[in-house]
Formats: sequence, C-alpha cells, structure tokens
Amino acid sequence: EIRAEGIGKTFGSFRALRDLSLNIGRGEFLTLLGPSGSGKTTFLMILAGFERPTHGRLTRDGADITNLSAEQRAFGMVFQGYALFPHMTVEQNIAFPLNIRKVPAEETRKRVADMVARVGLAGHERKLPTKLSGGQQQRVALARALVFEPPVLLLDEPFSALDKHLRGLMQEEVKRLHQEFGTTFVFVTHDQSEALSLSSRVAIFNHGQLLQVGTPQDVYERPASRFVSEFLGEIN
Ligand code: ATP
Repeated sequence: EIRAEGIGKTFGSFRALRDLSLNIGRGEFLTLLGPSGSGKTTFLMILAGFERPTHGRLTRDGADITNLSAEQRAFGMVFQGYALFPHMTVEQNIAFPLNIRKVPAEETRKRVADMVARVGLAGHERKLPTKLSGGQQQRVALARALVFEPPVLLLDEPFSALDKHLRGLMQEEVKRLHQEFGTTFVFVTHDQSEALSLSSRVAIFNHGQLLQVGTPQDVYERPASRFVSEFLGEIN
C-alpha cells in the first residue's frame, strides 16, 4: 500500500499541489482525473520519484520512500514522454528492463516471449518501433513496463494520441492486464468516461487540490462539490 501524507509541491511561487493525502491500496486501479493543469502529472512524478515534494511524505507498506530515487522505487511507467528506444526492436525494448537488472539470458528470453504473447504482439518481435502502429507501440510500452513485475504501474495519458476506436481497444487491454497481473495501477487522464470505465477508484483534482476520492459510482452519484458534479457532467 502507498500512502501520501500532506503532499505539497511548489514551483517557484506557484503551488502545483496543496496538502494532498491519499492511500493507494495494493492491486487497485486508481485514476487521477482532472482538467489540464490540475496537478495530476505532478503527483504522478512525485509517486515515480522524478520530483520531490516540497512538503509531506510518501510511504510504501509503512516504509518511508519520500527520498528514494526513481531507480530505487522501480515502478513501471508508461508516460507520454517516456518513449520506446527507436534503435531497438520490439523484443529488445521489452528485454531492456531485464537486461539492466542482469536477469539471465534464458529467463529473459522466456519472459519477453510471454509478454509479447500477452500483449498480442506475436509476429512483430523483430520490428523497430517506427514500423508499428500507435496502438502496437503502446502495447510494447505496456509490455516493457510490466515485464519486470513492478509493484506499481504508473500510466500518464497513455492513449491520448490514439483515435477513438484504438483508444477503446487499448482501454480494454489495460483493464485485462490489470486483472491478469494484479499490480497496482495509477492512471492519469482528463477524460471522465475513461476514468469511470477503467478504475476501481477515481481521485478528482482541480487547481492542485484533491477534491474527492471514491469508486466511479460514488463520485458520479454523490459528487462532493459543485465542481465535481459539473466536471463529471461533461461526459459526452
Ligand atoms: P495536464 O493534463 O495538462 O498534463 P496536469 O493536471 O497533469 O495537467 P500538471 O502537469 O501536474 O497538471 O501541472 C500542474 C501545474 O503545475 C501546471 O500549471 C503546470 O504549468 C505547473 N508545472 C508543472 N511542472 C512544472 C515545472 N517543472 N515548473 C513550473 N511549473 C510546473
């Protein structure tokens, strides 16, 4: 379990996050939802270890991880700007996290083949990322992030560049992978319907504040504020 206690983050005089406290249960699918600039990515970067909070602390299973680096935390990540290695094939990309962890070659081969099958990329192992569609590239990114069985997978708007149809397919894919792996997923989106359809719980952000956390049904049926009710009401 991850516990965020009183997290604040300022950039110069700008307060990107204010006094945020949140528990993330083991194996849950938590979505951070809010309009652009509300602080979702900043919080995800703090969870990942790429940003340090200005105030507050983070624990994982009771141990303080606030000052651990991203490498030490070793969470899986599928970020917009965290692209595939363009000069490596699909299987080399997926093997990369195992290679840096010095996993033996035979086990790496098995685990990569297993991941390739699980994300539906059989037959594409030797291709370079530029030869793949956008959806296939995202499948490689998911496989690379899950292959070392991280305790937590962080996803920042992974499907925002995809068209509507592909986006629906990838949402189903992520849902299935979450069920199969049982890993904790923390997913960022500004898309209300994406958040409500994917998550076990939704955390709603606005202006750097966490306004409400609850199941999709909770937040939809019992919005805690006018902002939440209007924001969720914009679903089309
Ligand atoms: P989006 O959906 O647009 O990514 P978001 O909810 O993820 O929005 P953040 O990226 O967390 O929002 O940004 C919150 C605010 O903090 C924004 O106003 C942003 O400009 C500001 N901000 C984020 N990172 C920095 C930084 N490194 N330096 C200065 N300001 C920053």
